[in-house]
Amino acid sequence: MRPTGKLHLGHLTGALENWVAMQGEYQNYHLIADYHALTTNPDTTNIYENSIDMLIDWLAAGLDPEKSPMFRQSKIKEHTELHLIFSMLITAARLERNPTLKEQIRDLAMDNVVYGHLGYPVLQAADILLYKGDVVPVGEDQLPHIEITREIARRFNSQYSVVFPEPEGKITKFARLPGLDGKRMSKSVGNTILLSDTPEAIIKKLRTAVTDPQKVRKGDPGRPDICLVFAYHNKFNHSEVPEIREGCESGKLGCVDCKMNCAKRIIEALAPNREKRAYYEAHMDEVKNILENGEQRARTIAEQTMTEVHEAMKLG
Ligand code: SF4
Repeated sequence: MRPTGKLHLGHLTGALENWVAMQGEYQNYHLIADYHALTTNPDTTNIYENSIDMLIDWLAAGLDPEKSPMFRQSKIKEHTELHLIFSMLITAARLERNPTLKEQIRDLAMDNVVYGHLGYPVLQAADILLYKGDVVPVGEDQLPHIEITREIARRFNSQYSVVFPEPEGKITKFARLPGLDGKRMSKSVGNTILLSDTPEAIIKKLRTAVTDPQKVRKGDPGRPDICLVFAYHNKFNHSEVPEIREGCESGKLGCVDCKMNCAKRIIEALAPNREKRAYYEAHMDEVKNILENGEQRARTIAEQTMTEVHEAMKLG
Protein backbone atom coordinates (compact mmCIF):
# COMPACT_ATOMS: atom_id res chain seq x y z
CA MET A 1 0.00 0.00 0.00
CA ARG A 2 1.34 3.44 -0.92
CA PRO A 3 1.82 5.77 2.07
CA THR A 4 -0.57 8.60 1.36
CA GLY A 5 -1.33 9.30 5.04
CA LYS A 6 -4.30 8.37 7.18
CA LEU A 7 -6.50 5.63 5.75
CA HIS A 8 -10.25 5.75 5.14
CA LEU A 9 -13.23 3.39 5.25
CA GLY A 10 -12.54 2.26 1.67
CA HIS A 11 -9.13 0.96 2.75
CA LEU A 12 -10.73 -0.87 5.68
CA THR A 13 -13.29 -2.74 3.60
CA GLY A 14 -11.12 -3.07 0.47
CA ALA A 15 -7.93 -4.36 2.08
CA LEU A 16 -7.38 -4.21 5.85
CA GLU A 17 -10.25 -6.46 6.94
CA ASN A 18 -9.08 -9.05 4.45
CA TRP A 19 -5.44 -8.82 5.54
CA VAL A 20 -6.42 -9.25 9.18
CA ALA A 21 -8.56 -12.30 8.30
CA MET A 22 -5.66 -13.84 6.34
CA GLN A 23 -3.21 -13.50 9.23
CA GLY A 24 -4.11 -16.83 10.77
CA GLU A 25 -3.95 -18.70 7.50
CA TYR A 26 -0.88 -17.27 5.75
CA GLN A 27 2.54 -15.81 6.51
CA ASN A 28 1.87 -12.23 5.41
CA TYR A 29 4.28 -9.45 4.44
CA HIS A 30 3.03 -5.86 4.43
CA LEU A 31 4.91 -3.37 2.32
CA ILE A 32 4.81 0.38 2.81
CA ALA A 33 5.39 1.15 -0.87
CA ASP A 34 7.16 4.49 -0.48
CA TYR A 35 9.05 4.18 -3.80
CA HIS A 36 5.82 3.40 -5.62
CA ALA A 37 4.32 6.56 -4.10
CA LEU A 38 6.81 8.64 -6.10
CA THR A 39 5.30 7.61 -9.44
CA THR A 40 2.32 9.92 -8.94
CA ASN A 41 3.91 12.42 -6.54
CA PRO A 42 7.67 12.99 -6.36
CA ASP A 43 7.29 15.33 -3.34
CA THR A 44 8.71 13.47 -0.31
CA THR A 45 8.18 16.23 2.28
CA ASN A 46 5.66 14.21 4.32
CA ILE A 47 6.53 10.70 3.24
CA TYR A 48 7.90 9.60 6.62
CA GLU A 49 4.94 11.00 8.59
CA ASN A 50 2.55 9.46 6.06
CA SER A 51 4.27 6.09 6.40
CA ILE A 52 4.00 6.17 10.19
CA ASP A 53 0.35 7.28 10.00
CA MET A 54 -0.45 4.40 7.69
CA LEU A 55 1.42 1.93 9.87
CA ILE A 56 -0.61 3.07 12.89
CA ASP A 57 -3.83 2.56 10.91
CA TRP A 58 -2.69 -0.98 10.03
CA LEU A 59 -1.94 -1.76 13.67
CA ALA A 60 -5.19 -0.16 14.84
CA ALA A 61 -7.12 -2.31 12.35
CA GLY A 62 -5.68 -5.45 13.94
CA LEU A 63 -2.56 -6.39 11.97
CA ASP A 64 -0.22 -8.26 14.28
CA PRO A 65 3.44 -7.25 13.86
CA GLU A 66 4.61 -10.51 15.47
CA LYS A 67 2.90 -12.53 12.75
CA SER A 68 3.30 -10.20 9.81
CA PRO A 69 6.41 -8.07 9.19
CA MET A 70 5.62 -4.49 8.13
CA PHE A 71 8.36 -2.56 6.39
CA ARG A 72 9.28 0.28 4.05
CA GLN A 73 10.25 -0.57 0.51
CA SER A 74 13.02 2.07 0.51
CA LYS A 75 14.73 0.43 3.49
CA ILE A 76 15.24 -2.95 1.79
CA LYS A 77 17.64 -2.16 -1.04
CA GLU A 78 17.10 -5.60 -2.63
CA HIS A 79 13.77 -4.34 -4.05
CA THR A 80 15.60 -1.97 -6.38
CA GLU A 81 18.25 -4.54 -7.25
CA LEU A 82 15.71 -7.20 -8.21
CA HIS A 83 13.69 -4.57 -10.08
CA LEU A 84 16.74 -3.86 -12.22
CA ILE A 85 17.30 -7.54 -13.03
CA PHE A 86 13.61 -8.04 -13.82
CA SER A 87 13.56 -4.99 -16.09
CA MET A 88 15.82 -6.96 -18.49
CA LEU A 89 13.27 -9.77 -18.69
CA ILE A 90 10.23 -7.90 -20.01
CA THR A 91 9.77 -5.76 -23.11
CA ALA A 92 8.72 -2.11 -23.09
CA ALA A 93 5.92 -3.07 -25.53
CA ARG A 94 4.49 -5.56 -22.99
CA LEU A 95 4.46 -2.88 -20.28
CA GLU A 96 2.86 -0.36 -22.63
CA ARG A 97 0.01 -2.82 -23.19
CA ASN A 98 -0.71 -2.95 -19.44
CA PRO A 99 -4.39 -1.91 -19.09
CA THR A 100 -3.83 -0.42 -15.61
CA LEU A 101 -1.27 1.99 -17.06
CA LYS A 102 -3.72 3.08 -19.75
CA GLU A 103 -6.44 3.67 -17.13
CA GLN A 104 -4.11 5.73 -14.92
CA ILE A 105 -2.99 7.89 -17.84
CA ARG A 106 -6.66 8.56 -18.56
CA ASP A 107 -7.79 9.05 -14.92
CA LEU A 108 -4.88 11.28 -13.92
CA ALA A 109 -4.95 13.15 -17.26
CA MET A 110 -1.19 12.60 -17.57
CA ASP A 111 0.68 14.34 -20.35
CA ASN A 112 4.04 12.80 -19.61
CA VAL A 113 4.46 9.27 -18.31
CA VAL A 114 7.60 8.88 -16.23
CA TYR A 115 9.64 5.71 -16.69
CA GLY A 116 8.72 4.67 -13.12
CA HIS A 117 5.08 4.52 -14.14
CA LEU A 118 5.81 2.19 -17.01
CA GLY A 119 8.02 0.08 -14.77
CA TYR A 120 5.57 0.09 -11.83
CA PRO A 121 4.52 -3.56 -12.36
CA VAL A 122 8.18 -4.59 -12.64
CA LEU A 123 8.97 -3.09 -9.24
CA GLN A 124 5.78 -4.70 -7.96
CA ALA A 125 7.00 -8.07 -9.29
CA ALA A 126 10.21 -7.53 -7.30
CA ASP A 127 8.15 -6.63 -4.19
CA ILE A 128 6.25 -9.91 -4.44
CA LEU A 129 8.96 -12.29 -5.59
CA LEU A 130 11.66 -11.08 -3.20
CA TYR A 131 9.62 -12.80 -0.47
CA LYS A 132 8.60 -15.63 -2.82
CA GLY A 133 4.99 -14.60 -2.38
CA ASP A 134 2.69 -17.23 -3.80
CA VAL A 135 -0.61 -15.55 -2.98
CA VAL A 136 -1.29 -11.84 -3.48
CA PRO A 137 -4.58 -10.36 -2.22
CA VAL A 138 -5.70 -7.90 -4.88
CA GLY A 139 -8.70 -6.12 -6.29
CA GLU A 140 -9.75 -7.26 -9.76
CA ASP A 141 -8.10 -4.22 -11.37
CA GLN A 142 -4.69 -5.42 -10.15
CA LEU A 143 -4.86 -8.84 -11.82
CA PRO A 144 -2.94 -7.65 -14.93
CA HIS A 145 -0.02 -6.80 -12.64
CA ILE A 146 -0.04 -10.28 -11.13
CA GLU A 147 0.03 -11.68 -14.67
CA ILE A 148 3.14 -9.59 -15.41
CA THR A 149 4.73 -10.91 -12.17
CA ARG A 150 4.00 -14.48 -13.28
CA GLU A 151 5.51 -13.84 -16.70
CA ILE A 152 8.68 -12.38 -15.15
CA ALA A 153 9.00 -15.30 -12.70
CA ARG A 154 8.62 -17.77 -15.58
CA ARG A 155 11.13 -15.93 -17.70
CA PHE A 156 13.70 -15.80 -14.88
CA ASN A 157 13.23 -19.47 -14.00
CA SER A 158 13.68 -20.62 -17.60
CA GLN A 159 16.55 -18.24 -18.40
CA TYR A 160 18.57 -19.10 -15.28
CA SER A 161 17.24 -21.70 -12.83
CA VAL A 162 14.10 -22.06 -10.76
CA VAL A 163 14.10 -19.56 -7.91
CA PHE A 164 10.63 -18.02 -7.93
CA PRO A 165 7.06 -19.29 -7.54
CA GLU A 166 4.38 -18.07 -9.96
CA PRO A 167 2.06 -16.19 -7.61
CA GLU A 168 -1.71 -16.33 -7.76
CA GLY A 169 -3.90 -13.27 -7.30
CA LYS A 170 -6.46 -13.81 -4.53
CA ILE A 171 -9.40 -11.58 -5.39
CA THR A 172 -10.66 -9.56 -2.46
CA LYS A 173 -14.46 -9.73 -2.50
CA PHE A 174 -16.08 -6.71 -0.91
CA ALA A 175 -18.79 -4.22 -1.59
CA ARG A 176 -17.02 -1.03 -2.66
CA LEU A 177 -18.03 1.81 -0.34
CA PRO A 178 -18.84 5.04 -2.15
CA GLY A 179 -17.48 8.40 -0.93
CA LEU A 180 -19.68 11.02 0.74
CA ASP A 181 -20.48 12.51 -2.68
CA GLY A 182 -21.51 9.12 -4.10
CA LYS A 183 -18.34 8.84 -6.22
CA ARG A 184 -15.32 6.59 -5.60
CA MET A 185 -13.98 7.20 -2.07
CA SER A 186 -10.66 8.97 -2.48
CA LYS A 187 -8.54 11.16 -0.25
CA SER A 188 -7.58 13.46 -3.12
CA VAL A 189 -11.27 14.20 -3.76
CA GLY A 190 -11.93 14.86 -0.03
CA ASN A 191 -15.01 12.63 0.18
CA THR A 192 -13.73 10.18 2.78
CA ILE A 193 -14.42 9.12 6.35
CA LEU A 194 -11.01 8.47 7.90
CA LEU A 195 -10.45 5.56 10.28
CA SER A 196 -8.96 8.13 12.66
CA ASP A 197 -11.86 10.62 12.45
CA THR A 198 -13.35 11.69 15.80
CA PRO A 199 -17.05 10.94 16.48
CA GLU A 200 -17.79 14.66 15.96
CA ALA A 201 -16.04 14.66 12.59
CA ILE A 202 -17.96 11.54 11.48
CA ILE A 203 -21.30 13.15 12.41
CA LYS A 204 -20.36 16.35 10.59
CA LYS A 205 -19.28 14.45 7.48
CA LEU A 206 -22.41 12.28 7.41
CA ARG A 207 -24.56 15.43 7.55
CA THR A 208 -23.10 16.49 4.19
CA ALA A 209 -23.55 13.07 2.56
CA VAL A 210 -25.43 13.04 -0.74
CA THR A 211 -28.67 11.02 -0.65
CA ASP A 212 -31.47 10.26 -3.12
CA PRO A 213 -32.14 13.66 -4.79
CA GLN A 214 -35.83 12.76 -5.12
CA LYS A 215 -36.21 12.52 -1.34
CA VAL A 216 -36.27 16.16 -0.33
CA ARG A 217 -38.13 15.94 2.98
CA LYS A 218 -39.45 13.34 5.42
CA GLY A 219 -42.55 11.79 3.88
CA ASP A 220 -41.10 11.63 0.35
CA PRO A 221 -40.47 8.04 -0.74
CA GLY A 222 -36.76 7.34 -1.28
CA ARG A 223 -34.65 4.88 -3.28
CA PRO A 224 -32.19 3.29 -0.85
CA ASP A 225 -30.34 1.39 -3.56
CA ILE A 226 -28.97 4.61 -5.06
CA CYS A 227 -28.15 6.17 -1.67
CA LEU A 228 -24.62 5.96 -0.26
CA VAL A 229 -25.91 6.22 3.33
CA PHE A 230 -27.80 2.98 2.71
CA ALA A 231 -24.58 1.38 1.44
CA TYR A 232 -22.93 2.37 4.74
CA HIS A 233 -25.87 0.90 6.70
CA ASN A 234 -25.39 -2.32 4.76
CA LYS A 235 -21.82 -2.50 5.94
CA PHE A 236 -22.01 -1.12 9.49
CA ASN A 237 -25.63 -1.66 10.52
CA HIS A 238 -26.62 -4.84 8.77
CA SER A 239 -29.32 -5.96 11.22
CA GLU A 240 -31.42 -2.81 10.68
CA VAL A 241 -31.22 -2.85 6.87
CA PRO A 242 -34.74 -4.26 6.18
CA GLU A 243 -36.30 -1.71 8.53
CA ILE A 244 -34.35 1.19 6.97
CA ARG A 245 -35.27 0.07 3.46
CA GLU A 246 -38.94 -0.03 4.40
CA GLY A 247 -38.78 3.33 6.19
CA CYS A 248 -36.97 4.99 3.28
CA GLU A 249 -39.20 3.58 0.56
CA SER A 250 -42.41 4.40 2.42
CA GLY A 251 -41.21 7.89 3.36
CA LYS A 252 -41.63 7.26 7.13
CA LEU A 253 -37.90 7.65 7.66
CA GLY A 254 -36.28 11.06 7.08
CA CYS A 255 -32.73 11.43 5.76
CA VAL A 256 -31.50 13.40 8.79
CA ASP A 257 -32.49 10.63 11.25
CA CYS A 258 -31.21 7.97 8.89
CA LYS A 259 -27.83 9.71 8.58
CA MET A 260 -27.46 10.21 12.35
CA ASN A 261 -28.24 6.55 12.97
CA CYS A 262 -25.65 5.65 10.36
CA ALA A 263 -23.05 7.95 11.94
CA LYS A 264 -23.69 6.29 15.32
CA ARG A 265 -23.07 2.81 13.85
CA ILE A 266 -19.87 3.88 12.10
CA ILE A 267 -18.63 5.51 15.32
CA GLU A 268 -19.34 2.25 17.22
CA ALA A 269 -17.62 0.13 14.57
CA LEU A 270 -14.50 2.32 14.58
CA ALA A 271 -14.29 2.62 18.39
CA PRO A 272 -11.70 -0.19 18.78
CA ASN A 273 -9.60 1.36 15.97
CA ARG A 274 -9.71 4.75 17.64
CA GLU A 275 -8.70 3.29 20.98
CA LYS A 276 -5.73 1.40 19.50
CA ARG A 277 -4.68 4.44 17.44
CA ALA A 278 -4.64 6.57 20.60
CA TYR A 279 -2.47 3.94 22.29
CA TYR A 280 0.09 3.85 19.47
CA GLU A 281 0.15 7.63 19.14
CA ALA A 282 1.09 7.78 22.81
CA HIS A 283 3.77 5.08 22.31
CA MET A 284 5.66 6.20 19.23
CA ASP A 285 8.81 4.36 20.31
CA GLU A 286 6.88 1.12 20.11
CA VAL A 287 5.67 2.00 16.59
CA LYS A 288 9.23 2.74 15.46
CA ASN A 289 10.43 -0.54 16.99
CA ILE A 290 7.71 -2.43 15.12
CA LEU A 291 8.91 -0.87 11.87
CA GLU A 292 12.57 -1.53 12.63
CA ASN A 293 11.87 -5.12 13.58
CA GLY A 294 9.73 -5.67 10.45
CA GLU A 295 12.49 -4.21 8.29
CA GLN A 296 15.09 -6.47 9.91
CA ARG A 297 12.98 -9.59 9.27
CA ALA A 298 12.19 -8.56 5.69
CA ARG A 299 15.87 -7.77 4.99
CA THR A 300 16.98 -11.23 6.13
CA ILE A 301 14.61 -12.90 3.65
CA ALA A 302 15.42 -10.43 0.86
CA GLU A 303 19.17 -11.04 1.26
CA GLN A 304 18.64 -14.79 1.14
CA THR A 305 16.58 -14.53 -2.07
CA MET A 306 19.19 -12.30 -3.71
CA THR A 307 21.91 -14.82 -2.86
CA GLU A 308 19.85 -17.44 -4.72
CA VAL A 309 19.32 -15.02 -7.62
CA HIS A 310 23.05 -14.32 -7.90
CA GLU A 311 23.85 -18.04 -7.77
CA ALA A 312 21.24 -18.79 -10.44
CA MET A 313 22.71 -16.03 -12.64
CA LYS A 314 26.28 -17.13 -11.94
CA LEU A 315 27.04 -13.69 -10.52
CA GLY A 316 28.46 -15.23 -7.35
S1 SF4 B 1 -33.76 7.75 4.22
FE1 SF4 B 1 -31.69 6.99 4.42
S2 SF4 B 1 -31.45 5.51 2.80
FE2 SF4 B 1 -33.24 6.73 2.29
S3 SF4 B 1 -32.47 8.35 0.96
FE3 SF4 B 1 -32.47 9.15 3.05
S4 SF4 B 1 -30.43 8.74 3.82
FE4 SF4 B 1 -30.73 7.47 2.01
